[in-house]
Amino acid sequence: MKLGNQRSSSNIEDRRGSSGGGGYGGGGGKMGIAGLIVVLIGAYYGVDLSGLVGGGVQMPQVQQQQSQPAASAEEEALARFSAQILATTEDAWGSYFRSRGREYVQPKMVLYRGSTPTACGTGQAAMGPFYCPADQKVYLDLSFYDDMKNQLGAAGDAAFAYVIAHEVGHHVQNLNGTMTQVNRARSRVGEREANRLSVKLELQADCLAGVWANRAQERQLFESGDLEEAFNAAEAVGDDRLQQRSRGYAVPDSFTHGTSAQRLQWFRRGLNSGDPEQCDTFAANS
Ligand SMILES: [Zn+2]
Repeated sequence: MKLGNQRSSSNIEDRRGSSGGGGYGGGGGKMGIAGLIVVLIGAYYGVDLSGLVGGGVQMPQVQQQQSQPAASAEEEALARFSAQILATTEDAWGSYFRSRGREYVQPKMVLYRGSTPTACGTGQAAMGPFYCPADQKVYLDLSFYDDMKNQLGAAGDAAFAYVIAHEVGHHVQNLNGTMTQVNRARSRVGEREANRLSVKLELQADCLAGVWANRAQERQLFESGDLEEAFNAAEAVGDDRLQQRSRGYAVPDSFTHGTSAQRLQWFRRGLNSGDPEQCDTFAANS
């Protein structure tokens, strides 16, 4: 991507120098309904997400004592890149909310290593980047950049930007109440229907990431090949692709994020329309 002198967001909480554990009272980390956590690619790491979005999940409590390694120049560049991308989401959603007569409350982005306390329980890097609605923060372990490249086949800065924009999409869903509604509905239905609702929530976040990409395209932030990188990333984190990688076959009823084709389709829909109103995955029959 071509960020030039794009400003960096001031909403970065850098915890990379501190160890995990502690905070928020430390005990148990039991997630309530308000503590829903939205994970991008958990299935890849074999984390069972079926209960995660419904609340009541016992998050493992990890205490880390080891000292943290110093950041490499590449990691610092990636941290700066992430702060710049976050700023572009603030600009895009800030102006959209203003146009609707509403104020956009900017999310914070926490950079951490390994594990960190969140208002949704202990966040683990192995779950991939996630958004915690209870504290309105996006949690990002920068090593995910390498995981995307080496393990998911989704290399490139625009692929990483898509991930950040997807998590910010969950923040938008939190602000507009969709997340709460879906969470309530999920608690009233069986697992299969709950998974179906989760897929719709995730695909909508992909569409909202596409709306961000539309603004980024207008601002000429993409270089040649960047959109293809983002498309590839959206496909790489499809449930079918991830399950095939981890188990060798896909189980559609257990999908919580949507197939590769669906994720790509909704991302493109947001990109092409630039209109969040076109992101009503709940009305769509897919
Ligand atoms: Zn998500």
